[in-house]
Amino acid sequence: MTEPKTLHGTDVVEVTGLTKSFDGPKGEPIQVLRDNDFSVAPGSVTVIIGPSGSGKTTMLRSLNALDIPDAGVIRIGEVSVDFAALGKPRKGLGSGRKLTRADNALLARYRLQSGMVFQSHNLFPNKTVLQNVTEGPVIVQKRDAEEARGDAHALLERVGLAAQAEQLPHQLSGGQQQRVGIARALAMKPTVVLFDEPTSALDPELVGDVLGVIKDLAVEGTTMVIVTHEIRFAQQVSNQVLFIDGGAIVERGTPADVIGAPRNERTKTFLKRIL
Ligand code: ADP
Repeated sequence: MTEPKTLHGTDVVEVTGLTKSFDGPKGEPIQVLRDNDFSVAPGSVTVIIGPSGSGKTTMLRSLNALDIPDAGVIRIGEVSVDFAALGKPRKGLGSGRKLTRADNALLARYRLQSGMVFQSHNLFPNKTVLQNVTEGPVIVQKRDAEEARGDAHALLERVGLAAQAEQLPHQLSGGQQQRVGIARALAMKPTVVLFDEPTSALDPELVGDVLGVIKDLAVEGTTMVIVTHEIRFAQQVSNQVLFIDGGAIVERGTPADVIGAPRNERTKTFLKRIL
């Protein structure tokens, strides 16, 4: 396979001009992301930090097109979407747009490039752990069921849940459920795994297990983008930190730079408050 020609060469995620607004109570646009650029190297971990309401989750959801940006070009792996070019704006619907069939087909391919791990697991309650992990590969990707089961067992082993394969989600602890969520995202073999505050809904004693699994994945070279408030964890695990405030990346660099020796006043203030 030949590498796609891109601005940054071999980066697996390339974001330029990412801009997003939501409709306010009177239909007025409220800008949540303003013209953001960043990229992610293969096998690296990027952590997004910033104050509450700064746009971290919206940025992550934009990477998976769960929120559709107003403008910006995002390439993940070999699938690139120019969001400003999607659909046609519809009068009377604020920033709403009507997507064409071609747009939806492109977005479906684009979404498969990333796997999302949410704040709380949202597993299928009536399916076993194993079935939760094989559902996406078999139903969405139409992969061979036997092969998917084999892969799922290997993934459950990786997240320390080999013995729980036949259990139902409610029989597991919150931390175990979250680890199933991670296995489920990995089962789709995405280019990048996106984590939205993966430990914030957990009891404190369960946080370490989930962070441990994410650290192992980092060591194994899984490309990840993680929104988190766990600053110490961010320091240990990440290659790149994005500090976002007011919808814009105001500081970006290694954890040693952004967390260890922040230059921007807003980064300094934020870190002083939470460390
Ligand atoms: P963070 O993750 O940094 O806390 P978010 O991305 O969740 O920030 O939210 C950024 C801003 O966008 C907030 O002001 C939030 O209220 C607003 N917002 C997020 N999602 C929506 C939505 N679906 N509709 C309207 N406003 C939203």
